[in-house]
Amino acid sequence: MTSPLDRVDTSKAHSARVYDYILGGKDHYPVDVEAGDAMCRHWPSLPVHMLENRRFMHRAGRFLAREKGIRQFLDIGTGLPTAPNLHEVVQEVAPESRVVYVDNDPIVLTHARALLQGTPQGATAYVDADMHDPEAILNSPEFEALLDVGEPVGLMIIGVLHFILPPDDRRLVRRLLDPLPAGSHLAMTIGTADFAPEEVGRVAQEYARQNMPMALRDLPSTTSFFDGLEIVEPGVTQVHRWRPGAAQRRVADRDIAMYGAVARKP
Ligand code: SAH
Repeated sequence: MTSPLDRVDTSKAHSARVYDYILGGKDHYPVDVEAGDAMCRHWPSLPVHMLENRRFMHRAGRFLAREKGIRQFLDIGTGLPTAPNLHEVVQEVAPESRVVYVDNDPIVLTHARALLQGTPQGATAYVDADMHDPEAILNSPEFEALLDVGEPVGLMIIGVLHFILPPDDRRLVRRLLDPLPAGSHLAMTIGTADFAPEEVGRVAQEYARQNMPMALRDLPSTTSFFDGLEIVEPGVTQVHRWRPGAAQRRVADRDIAMYGAVARKP
């Protein structure tokens, strides 16, 4: 039988593993360490930036569960399990919450079991699929089993969209939103070079050199992804400025290269 590990190319860095390395995880290869170190030399703020992206996911997930009553989530580009994962955040608010995780990295697939340890009342599932193939996600047995499109869904696209290049980017986000009913919410973060253009530009070049080309967006371009949706307060902000906790208030704008927002489908 072939294992997902047969699909892993340990000679090339991969975004999920570079992210894991920089966030202090242990599921990566020497090539990811090399790439991560090079990126941090270009921009020493990278770990803070990545951590604040992750913390945005926690706050946005909690907000959707607590304030908006969302009980089912579709998380695109999940990454390697890092506690708390989305289901842990939302099942703490409502144990019956259901989460479908999606990622295209075979290493994430091999660790998916850690994402499947939900509450007895709730449920989680993992889909090994690429965001470029939304039909594979929407037609998956996991999507059909766990998500009821008669009820609002929280669509999370966190820290992924900069790997989805134009011209397909907007269409792919729309396609994932299409089947979701009114009252569903999109929580999304998008990389930007607006605050430390030189440093972040160098990091993007390093990603491109490592075969992970990146699209960075300015504020108008980021905001346009939410056209037709009702953006909730405080709007599109850098991730640490979105409903910040005490820790976020100490973060400097120049250390964060990510916009984030949450918006409601009318
Ligand atoms: N959402 C997580 C992880 C972000 S890291 C968080 O914010 O903490 C980016 C993740 O997106 C990686 O796990 C990578 O494997 C995944 N990814 C990148 N391109 C993808 C694609 N085309 N389809 C699905 N997942 C993708």
